[in-house]
Amino acid sequence: MVCSWMSKGEVGLIDLEEWEAKCKCCGRCCYEKIEFEGDIFYTDIPCEMLDIESHRCTVYAERNQRRPGCVRLTPELAAGGFLPSDCPYVADIDNYQAPISEGE
Ligand code: SF4
Ligand code: SF4
Repeated sequence: MVCSWMSKGEVGLIDLEEWEAKCKCCGRCCYEKIEFEGDIFYTDIPCEMLDIESHRCTVYAERNQRRPGCVRLTPELAAGGFLPSDCPYVADIDNYQAPISEGE
């Protein structure tokens, strides 16, 4: 399955298929985030390239060219604090600090 913003390469020794299969395609990480005083906040503004019905990227193959700022997910990046707490990529990270969502 290919969705969200995983990308070939830069996943080190982790098998690519195994890496991509972790994504549950919720699309949450494709919403705009803001950083304020050291905290990351999720907004309710989706990336313009996100199909909010299917939660899929509409330009996946060329997302990095079509959407500057769309980054490739790597294990190192996953620990950076911008994925939601229920994202499988952060499930094994101790004391992971997820972004703050509206209402929290
Ligand atoms: S938040 Fe995690 S599970 Fe959801 S789309 Fe992003 S990478 Fe996939
Ligand atoms: S271009 Fe937008 S919708 Fe597509 S993967 Fe990147 S952030 Fe998500």
